[in-house]
Amino acid sequence: MIDIHTHIGKLMLKKALKPSQLLKFMDRNGIEKAVILPIENPEETYYYVTTDEVLKACKRHPDRLIPFCNVDPRRGNSDTSTDFYKIIKEYKERGCKGFGEELSGLWIDDARLQKIYEACGRLRMPMVLHLDGLRNKDNKGLPKLERMLKKFPKTIFIGHGPHFWAEISLDLKRKDFTGYPKGKIKRGALDRLLSQYLNLYGDLSAGSGYNALARDINFAYPFLERNQDKLLFGTDYLSPGQKCPQIKFLKEAKEKGLIKKKTFEKIAFKNSKRLLKIR
Ligand SMILES: [Zn+2]
Repeated sequence: MIDIHTHIGKLMLKKALKPSQLLKFMDRNGIEKAVILPIENPEETYYYVTTDEVLKACKRHPDRLIPFCNVDPRRGNSDTSTDFYKIIKEYKERGCKGFGEELSGLWIDDARLQKIYEACGRLRMPMVLHLDGLRNKDNKGLPKLERMLKKFPKTIFIGHGPHFWAEISLDLKRKDFTGYPKGKIKRGALDRLLSQYLNLYGDLSAGSGYNALARDINFAYPFLERNQDKLLFGTDYLSPGQKCPQIKFLKEAKEKGLIKKKTFEKIAFKNSKRLLKIR
């Protein structure tokens, strides 16, 4: 499997996750490669883990660990004059394969973020974005994200986080933007956006990704089938011993024949390989 969403280092008031511990977690779970996402926005986590730290760790395990880069959109004068393209291009030249995890406490269509979307599109770097009630903010139905998908068709947006996944169902409430809604799903904005926009993907990592599947399994398996070309396996592993129930969920779905083997393979590694241009 390829994990599209992991972290290293100290992010929370918990012990830091060493690269060797991440590799052991990967070995235990049949994960061949993992994307490591630096954290450079002040929101969400308590500490930063910079692109430089991620590049350093990935250099020691180039066959297993894939570096992404991160740039806070408020760098420079905190306006659109910052040359994000130049910064991200340099990171790409140093080996970064994508951008994220984007976690800034801004509206998702903020003019500074748009400069980053544009740069990532030009550089063909897929982006992982975390959406909730405070970070990459949007309204119900994700109208702002939809405008960005239209405006930046070359930019690959990989959505993740409580608000993104709450949009799997039509009847979400504002409190669900930062929560883990339960219960039966009525087909929501996500199905439409994933089928309509070639440049939108969904990252199944973290409690939010797992909850979206587990809350209504009768909806989940057909959802995985329908969107088999647009979903990516991920864990958001960031501290030693963390539970990642989506691993078992997806493996069991394949073993019990609840999803096709071909669907599992696409979600587990083929889609990520295509996006990251790896063999
Ligand atoms: Zn994360």
